[in-house]
Amino acid sequence: MATTAPPKRPATRATADEARDVAEAAREEQWAAPSFVRDLFLGKLRMDLIHPYPEQDPDEVARAKPFLDKLERFLREKVDSDRIDREGEIPDAVVDGLKELGAFGIKIPREYGGLGLSQLSYMKAIALVSSVDGSLTALLSAHQSIGVPQPLKMFGTDAQKQKFFPRLAKGAISAFALTEDGVGSDPAAMETSAVPSDDGEAWILNGEKLWCTNGTKAELMVVMARTPSKMVGGKEKKQITAFIVEADWPGVEIAHRCHFMGLKALYNGVIRFTNVRVPKENVLWGEGKGLKLALITLNTGRLTLPISSVAAGKRCLEIARRWSAERVQWGKPIGKHDAIAQKLGTMAANTFAMEAVAELCGAMAERGGYDIRLEAAIAKLYNSEAGWRIIDDTVQIRGGRGYETADSLRARGEEPIPVERMLRDFRINLIFEGSSEIMHLFIAREAVDKHLQTAGDVVMPGKTLRQRLAGLARSAAFYGWWYPSRWLGWSLWPRYEEFGRLATHVRFVDRACRKLARGVFHSMIRFGPKLEQRQSVLFRLVDVGAELFAIAAACSRARRLYQRDPAAGTRAMKLADLFARQARRRVRAQFAGLRRNEDVPTYRVAQDILEGEHRWLERGIVELSD
Ligand SMILES: Cc1cc2nc3c(=O)[nH]c(=O)nc-3n(C[C@H](O)[C@H](O)[C@H](O)COP(=O)(O)OP(=O)(O)OC[C@H]3O[C@@H](n4cnc5c(N)ncnc54)[C@H](O)[C@@H]3O)c2cc1C
Repeated sequence: MATTAPPKRPATRATADEARDVAEAAREEQWAAPSFVRDLFLGKLRMDLIHPYPEQDPDEVARAKPFLDKLERFLREKVDSDRIDREGEIPDAVVDGLKELGAFGIKIPREYGGLGLSQLSYMKAIALVSSVDGSLTALLSAHQSIGVPQPLKMFGTDAQKQKFFPRLAKGAISAFALTEDGVGSDPAAMETSAVPSDDGEAWILNGEKLWCTNGTKAELMVVMARTPSKMVGGKEKKQITAFIVEADWPGVEIAHRCHFMGLKALYNGVIRFTNVRVPKENVLWGEGKGLKLALITLNTGRLTLPISSVAAGKRCLEIARRWSAERVQWGKPIGKHDAIAQKLGTMAANTFAMEAVAELCGAMAERGGYDIRLEAAIAKLYNSEAGWRIIDDTVQIRGGRGYETADSLRARGEEPIPVERMLRDFRINLIFEGSSEIMHLFIAREAVDKHLQTAGDVVMPGKTLRQRLAGLARSAAFYGWWYPSRWLGWSLWPRYEEFGRLATHVRFVDRACRKLARGVFHSMIRFGPKLEQRQSVLFRLVDVGAELFAIAAACSRARRLYQRDPAAGTRAMKLADLFARQARRRVRAQFAGLRRNEDVPTYRVAQDILEGEHRWLERGIVELSD
């Protein structure tokens, strides 16, 4: 593979309708299994789905322990993260050591040479790695969460599994290539294409993928490419197909290695494909199913970021606890000053809740029988945002030392605590694997799904009279009982007494989820099809749902810990209680924001800015050259 400078060319743009059509076609339409969060948005609290809080299978815990112990020792003794950050490379000895431990095949079934461990065990391993080094987390998780092993496990044929799993388990690094210059959050603009070869035995792949993590080191990649469109109902339907591509095939080229604010040793690049012949047996799942495959893969793949956010929270808590006790200013440890104490308490409460959310999602994925697409999306959104706030607070608590690099601290004889690096490494979590904005939209789409199924034909444009009448009949039947019942329901004492002092918070979730469901419904009535464009309204509703899920998860987890060990559990209950109090305040603020807000004037000012009306405000600085 050669390394050359990438050519600059304009990206294609998809229209809003095209973007929506492609996203809709890739959606999983069916809800075959129960979903706690979906019901929450419909105003129904199904605590039975998450309480009792699931325990990990003791046999699995025992099976995973030797690996996790070895991994922990390896990370402590062999990984120098300051060096990795400084040099922008992961030493070969570290990569080889991880391969020997089996860390590249944690979830790959044992019959193919993997460790055959579960989702939760995988997440425990990722938490260990994340507590030490972000670039290593990215290496392992881009390979296992979104790279070849996960979609292969879910959608591969037996022959594909026999062929690729043993290599992957031994450490053949893999990558996931979806993004392009014009395809960030919007796959409809995809330009990489694959057309059938003349002999019909292969596909000919052409195009260029951007920011492909592991791309510069990978042996194998899952590549999404546009394949010839199909006509469905007289309308052109764009097709995106997933291919397993070998990096050493002719025509595969690393055009550029990208460098970032953090994750300095990320092996991320622009990968160019020129007339690459991909045998037809390397199509994953089927022609036209590539985007759906990517979305379904991400449902569990997304559970890596929530757990690495938890690990960051725990590391920050450790750093902040020690420094807040040790650093004396104005006559007392800074942790005794209210401003710092508030941050410390909030940090612990949030870390507890984040762990509840991540662990619960992992347990649901492992147990099966749940549809966790909404839970996983909330876990990604909620934990990455909360983790970012925690790291930001940790920088503040460390003061000037929080901003200083570990190497500089070490050189002046101080403990090289790498908060500065953690901040840089963490920021990307709010952008990749679905940016916070895209996660909000994804959750909002699923949250209104039942309403669209029921009343979509009534409110959406372009429907026939017949469709509208049928929609009206459906709506009358459904909303006739659903809407009044979202106002009724007993969620006061003594309901949820089994949660002890946390019962009040569970009762709040019960009441608030009915209010949330009403809020979704009222917004649909108020804005009709335009609701799609009122993102700030939708985002508030999503944020309420996310907070309610986090409160419920935290209460359920605390209760389980209490039952297991009342002394330790009492401490957990305290954290859950504090978290729930703070979250309830945020929920109330979001509800208030639905009624009163500055969304419209803010949007208008933004449009004026786009028109150049406020360029006067940019004067007085050195202008960027055009
Ligand atoms: C370090 C790194 C590693 C990566 N690894 C991979 C990888 O391994 N494989 C891969 O395929 N990709 C990878 N990516 C790409 C990553 O997933 C994208 O950056 C991400 O999807 C966002 O796309 P974008 O950067 O083009 O932003 P854009 O889509 O251009 O979005 C810009 C901003 O607008 C917001 N936005 C976009 N659309 C909407 C909308 N409809 N409504 C509201 N807001 C919107 C976004 O949230 C964002 O804030 C990586 C990126 C980075 C930086």
